[in-house]
Amino acid sequence: MKDFLIQLLSYETTAERPDQLRNAVDLVEKEVCELGLKVCRFEKNKKPSIVLTSDGSKSPDIFLSGHLDVVPGSPMQFKPLERDGKVYARGASDMKGPVSAMLFAFKELVKMSDTKNASVGLMLTTDEEVGGFNGTKYLLNDIRFKSKVAFVPDTTSLVPYEVCTDEKAVWHIKISVSGTEAHGSRPWLGVNAIEKSMDISRQIKTSFDNKWGTPSQDFNWIPSVNIGKVIGGTATNKVPEKCELYLDIRFPEGISFESVSNIVSEIASRNNALIETLVFGSSNHIDKSNYYLSRWVDAVEKNTSHDVKYFRTHGASDGRYFHELGIPCVMSKPHCSLTHMKDEWVDYDSLVEFKDIIKEWVLSV
Ligand SMILES: [Zn+2]
Repeated sequence: MKDFLIQLLSYETTAERPDQLRNAVDLVEKEVCELGLKVCRFEKNKKPSIVLTSDGSKSPDIFLSGHLDVVPGSPMQFKPLERDGKVYARGASDMKGPVSAMLFAFKELVKMSDTKNASVGLMLTTDEEVGGFNGTKYLLNDIRFKSKVAFVPDTTSLVPYEVCTDEKAVWHIKISVSGTEAHGSRPWLGVNAIEKSMDISRQIKTSFDNKWGTPSQDFNWIPSVNIGKVIGGTATNKVPEKCELYLDIRFPEGISFESVSNIVSEIASRNNALIETLVFGSSNHIDKSNYYLSRWVDAVEKNTSHDVKYFRTHGASDGRYFHELGIPCVMSKPHCSLTHMKDEWVDYDSLVEFKDIIKEWVLSV
């Protein structure tokens, strides 16, 4: 497993490098070909993916799901380094380490499937970091793979095996605001589109705060809004006629999209502004009492000294595409660093342990 992991980490599998994405999928295919299973490869908009199942069906009981792409890093981060039992490289934690564990657990399960027929599949994609539209979303919604449960070890936690139960929904929008142009020396003759968009964002924030409260470090499982980008104006001495406001809105399970979008739409229409959705991703949630999750927790606590804890995260993962179809996601990781950081690492012994627990979990459900 280590050779595979090191090789996989050396590929610069960022969104801009389709050749490297393909190399990573080729490497996976080479590693699984000895199993003699039907390998399904897909490619949509230059985003390759690979799926195989132990029974050759499109709907195994369990999908082990992960992504091979990473966020950009320096050239050094694609030269994996081993130190004190840890493997350092871009993607070690997010999520080539966990992917390696799933792949080898899958291989071992298939090889022993004469003793017990585990119905399990492996689904690896290459576009999670840029939305997952041509990977997991495409495979589930268009190709129509499905399962009873998905295992998605793609969380952000430093605590080994901590289980992520919730991810917020994400709604990225562009609001186009119009004003009336005038010379900068006579601003009273115009309507300043930049000032108007600042007003709009303030009104949206205030309405969110009035309805759900103001998000803070200690009180944040509520909707939030961030002004990420503002584009407007062409010259200092002109009253700008147009402005574009880019907002990143997040909200948890239990708060409907309508309750959020009604506020934004109402304020936009009052100001004659147009809203365009750039990205929408639904929330993700699993009950702590879920059967598959309980079995996972049992398997971890039986085989390690860890007392499994639970957490919620404000970010999003491909897990949401399973959740949208009513497929629960078990999300838990071995001992590894936070994601997207400079010194990303995974503890190798923990990764081997993780692989064995995945195997045991699959056989227990
Ligand atoms: Zn990830």
